Amino acid sequence: MTKTLKYILFDLDETLYPSRSGLMAGIGELMSRYMEERLDMPPTEVPFLREHYYHTYGTTMRGLQIHHGIDPEDYLAYVHDISLEDYIGPNDELDRVLAEIEAEKAIFTNASAEHARRVLAILGIERHFSRIIDVRALGYMSKPNPEAYRRALEILGAEGHECLLVDDRVRNLAPAKALGMITVLVGSEKTADADFVIGEVAEIGEVVQRLTPGRNQVFPKNLVSDEGLSNDG
Ligand SMILES: [Mg+2]
Repeated sequence: MTKTLKYILFDLDETLYPSRSGLMAGIGELMSRYMEERLDMPPTEVPFLREHYYHTYGTTMRGLQIHHGIDPEDYLAYVHDISLEDYIGPNDELDRVLAEIEAEKAIFTNASAEHARRVLAILGIERHFSRIIDVRALGYMSKPNPEAYRRALEILGAEGHECLLVDDRVRNLAPAKALGMITVLVGSEKTADADFVIGEVAEIGEVVQRLTPGRNQVFPKNLVSDEGLSNDG
């Protein structure tokens, strides 16, 4: 691969910190509580509706906007009112890895910029990110809606092929790939939509090295999906 990589778009939640932290489960409880308290929904119906909205619209919030006319700002403030320090802490290794990557780094998240800034501060990595493209900047569109990716590219003034997306959700990769982005899954699933699969976000440093022209280090096989290897040819 010889094209220059200009931008790395990082998803935030469960990409920059692991799902085992339990943070998203905590935020999920607040989403449910919002629906019960603010919208008077029966607790038994809430899990079904959240699942339905997530699959149909990308996020619970978007479904609540469309079907219940909620104020997205009220919702975002409510569900992110959580003590982050109880779940996540500094990641010195990730801080070191990001410092060595030249490409501009941006956050591309379905959450709010305020939440993103607080998470980045606690992880100790906020200095590496030039921009936060949040759900508000996307006009409340969210991944995996292709419109969210087009707006992100517009905000960056970038072409898809200049970007790499790092995300923990398989379903968020295909729209990025369709626009020419390189895709990196943080996880373990096998999917043709991922050019690379890494277990932990700090392994992004090795992926970027691999993509840098003139550097053909031997790459640990478990770091690269079969699809990624075949794509490299
Ligand atoms: Mg995520």
